[in-house]
Amino acid sequence: MSLFEKFQALAATRAGLGSDGPAPIATPIDSVRSATRGMIGGREVILAGTNNYLGLTFEASVIEAAQQALSELGTGTTGSRMANGSYVDHRALETELAAAFGWPAGIVFSTGYQANLGALSGLVGDGEYLLVDSDSHASIYDGCRLSQAQTIRFRHNDPDNLDRRLARLGEEASKALVVVEGLYSMLGDQPPLAEFVEVKNRHGAWLLVDEAHSFGVFGERGLGLTEQMGLLDEVDFIVGTFSKSLAGIGGFCVSPHAELELLRLASRPYIFTASPSPAVMAATRRALALLLEGQDLRKRLHRNINHLYEAVKAMGHELGSDQPGPVMAIILPDRATALAHWRGLLDRGVYANLMIPPATPAGLNLLRISLSAAHSEDDINQIVAALQDLRETVSLTATG
Ligand code: PMP
Repeated sequence: MSLFEKFQALAATRAGLGSDGPAPIATPIDSVRSATRGMIGGREVILAGTNNYLGLTFEASVIEAAQQALSELGTGTTGSRMANGSYVDHRALETELAAAFGWPAGIVFSTGYQANLGALSGLVGDGEYLLVDSDSHASIYDGCRLSQAQTIRFRHNDPDNLDRRLARLGEEASKALVVVEGLYSMLGDQPPLAEFVEVKNRHGAWLLVDEAHSFGVFGERGLGLTEQMGLLDEVDFIVGTFSKSLAGIGGFCVSPHAELELLRLASRPYIFTASPSPAVMAATRRALALLLEGQDLRKRLHRNINHLYEAVKAMGHELGSDQPGPVMAIILPDRATALAHWRGLLDRGVYANLMIPPATPAGLNLLRISLSAAHSEDDINQIVAALQDLRETVSLTATG
């Protein structure tokens, strides 16, 4: 019995995705030329599967900030902040993130994944409770695993279900942290945040919103769904990532509670890993400034979102959400059809994402398109034309 034997089912799934042309999982990208163009399989394609919502990856001033930090401060920090020290940019970025929310505390983590691991496992421990939406991202589930708290799942986007679960905790609800996302990236749907706030307030619980996909996208200043819904005074923690709208890598947790600062002393994913490199910190600071002033970028992004939504809805496709957002999921009847769409799009010069079980909720097979402020109207027209062509040529009848 080999240690590798348990991977055979996964290997078979991967093999079943075909071998003609670029692989749909971990697709090899030959090169990236701009926020919206890359080379895949030897040809130039429109990048519509990259979560580069504000298109800042090639922004000149962001690159310049990274280059300057690289030459002034070196390639890496070579250690954790607790052991080896905190650079000026780590601290400045934390202050700037907290200030953007008007809050006293912010902590930067090395990835968004670690921000959830670090916040959940550090904030909530033995004898306490984590209440998480059933469609939560893996980083939220893994944060629960790392925590000593009891994890309780509630039905996706269902405040009544959360209400019942908190009611069962009685007085203990004051030791419960509820975790929801500002935008669920598989189906592209949003939570009924005001209802969740009402429920957690009634039970005296705490609320953390992971705005990984909604930061930079929603709200006047781009702070996320919580800002857009006017609920910044009602939440306890916001987690986000630098890897989408901020075009870098890293993550953060901010809070109106100054005591968040103490999390640094207790959070293993914060303490026991190397801190983000100087170039990443400098680039992210610049990208954050652009994001906060990014009303025009958001206007362009939402123009693109609405354009694509209207066109795809008119084709009669079933979508993951009726709330237009930066990720659009087209639900296809089976894996073969989803794969045919993914390959068909690539053949027509558009790179999107194939999402299949076990990564997807409810065993759905999805074609996921993510949009950017950097896409031009022509780009969207090309994506629409490719989808229309596929709509006419690929059967949508399930093949089993
Ligand atoms: N939270 C959510 C909701 C996410 O979708 C992701 C990644 N897609 C993360 C956290 C982790 O962020 P990162 O990839 O930047 O580590």
